Amino acid sequence: MKNLIEDVINILMKYPLCNRCLGRLYAYLGRELDNAERGKALKIYTIMELHKRILEGDEKALETLKSIASNIKMPLKSLFNYLKINSKIEASNEIKKCFICNDIIDDIINVYSKLVAKQIIEAQRKSFLIGIIVPNEILEREAIIIKEFKLKHWESIKRELKREIGKKVQQISNTNVDFEKPEAIYIIDLIHNTIRVESPSLLIFGYYLKLGRNISQNTWIKENGSRKYPLAVEDVIRYASSYIGAKDIALHIAGREDVDVRVLGNGRPLVIEFKNPSKRNISLLELENILNSFSRWLKFKMEMKVDRNFISRLKQSASFTSKIYRAIILVENTIDSNRLAELERFFKGLVIYQRTPLRILRRKKDIMRKKRVFSIKTLQLSSNLFEAFIKCEGGLYVKELISGDNGRTTPSFSEFLGTQARCIELDVLHVHEYI
Ligand SMILES: [Zn+2]
Repeated sequence: MKNLIEDVINILMKYPLCNRCLGRLYAYLGRELDNAERGKALKIYTIMELHKRILEGDEKALETLKSIASNIKMPLKSLFNYLKINSKIEASNEIKKCFICNDIIDDIINVYSKLVAKQIIEAQRKSFLIGIIVPNEILEREAIIIKEFKLKHWESIKRELKREIGKKVQQISNTNVDFEKPEAIYIIDLIHNTIRVESPSLLIFGYYLKLGRNISQNTWIKENGSRKYPLAVEDVIRYASSYIGAKDIALHIAGREDVDVRVLGNGRPLVIEFKNPSKRNISLLELENILNSFSRWLKFKMEMKVDRNFISRLKQSASFTSKIYRAIILVENTIDSNRLAELERFFKGLVIYQRTPLRILRRKKDIMRKKRVFSIKTLQLSSNLFEAFIKCEGGLYVKELISGDNGRTTPSFSEFLGTQARCIELDVLHVHEYI
């Protein structure tokens, strides 16, 4: 294992760094320390270590000390005098500026925390959150050192700035940082040197019902600029966002059905995010009415306002859900009701092996999935047409369960019936979620 101090010496031989930027490279070592303290401690230890080696007659240490003199940004003059090193390195114009922040990080923290605190006091807010936009050049320079020295315990400058400014603003304004429900978010933009105030997103949990086919979740614009599908869930949310005065929206949905699949029954769960809204006190009923007035083919049921943690729970829940589908299935050869009864028995509780369907192979990685069918009920409609109600685990590709997808899904209805089966209509009837 390489010594931490050897790494620090190597970094300082190549890059001039201020205390904070050096300390931040090791931010996750030690607790309750400020990165500036970490950096200063590392520099002091570096000087002491090199001094010791020099006293022990290590010639190389002497050269090392000389070569880091203009990068370490610490007073070395009296040590150099004591060691009788004839060096002009200490002359102030030889001291280089910090490679990452150009010696401005402390000013950024001090200046912006005062400015934000002033705004908070004036607006009489009780809680806030800090956001920060850092110029790319700074992030790139930080990344160069991390990559070159394969550092593992570093913290990003963005994170440090957010935390340090947040701490100072709390002290000055006597308010609190609130990650979940801040009254306002102050976005400090270091590219344009501005502070922008945003309201936190309004997050609302509910369900959507797709009563028609050819409806996508997100608006899908083709390369020639025209729409691929006439209607999208996103269209409705964008329409509603103008009532809330939101600057932008996001949809957080657990899973996705094909555009030609209807979603009936209780609908599919989703969280609608209205970003930077000017109106927050809209009632769920009011929102529901606005959403439902947009199209007869998409309906919404709004349940409650939620916090951001809820979104990850919703997304994780997608693979644990069970679903009930209704499919209309066309088969090449005729079948009878006895064979369908056998199909029901055969698939009950069966695990289906599915490689990624051919139709989405361009977009998704080719992997093998194992998903369970819980039960199937069938109803014969004619000699080569039947309806099936399929209860299965979330994430099972139902169209491929039916067709077999050229052997990529097994067992399948086609395989079991000994004749090609094809799903010609599919509806989600029920999504059972555990959020
Ligand atoms: Zn710096």
